[in-house]
Amino acid sequence: MADCLFCKIIRREIPGKIVYEDDELLAFEDINPQAPTHLLVIPKRHIESLNALEDGDDQIVGAIVRRAAAIAKERGISGGGYRTVFNTNRDAGQTVFHIHLHLLGGRGMTWPPG
Ligand code: 5GP
Ligand code: ZN
Repeated sequence: MADCLFCKIIRREIPGKIVYEDDELLAFEDINPQAPTHLLVIPKRHIESLNALEDGDDQIVGAIVRRAAAIAKERGISGGGYRTVFNTNRDAGQTVFHIHLHLLGGRGMTWPPG
């Protein structure tokens, strides 16, 4: 997608602090971190939101979630805990329409979220 911010990070057209990359995924630091660890894990293929997922996408969704868990473990926050969030559309506050899993950790968090 030509105009998508996260596709531009994937293509290195805008800078991103990339912490993990493979053939299908990228993980990078959120530009406006809300916790000591705040990363975004994204598929390299442009998918707008969870609403656009199809039957064949189960593998990529699993890979995104498992990568977030692996990074949390590497950073030493898996035992204490962390939060993973997919925001979808207006009511959840989605602002970038390329699926991204937020990985937030390194501090205590409250529930319910705002
Ligand atoms: P959403 O609100 O769509 O769930 O989350 C979008 C996230 O992308 C926000 O946490 C925001 O800080 C982050 N973000 C927006 N623009 C950029 C950018 O140019 N670079 C990076 N690394 N993160 C961004
Ligand atoms: Zn995109």
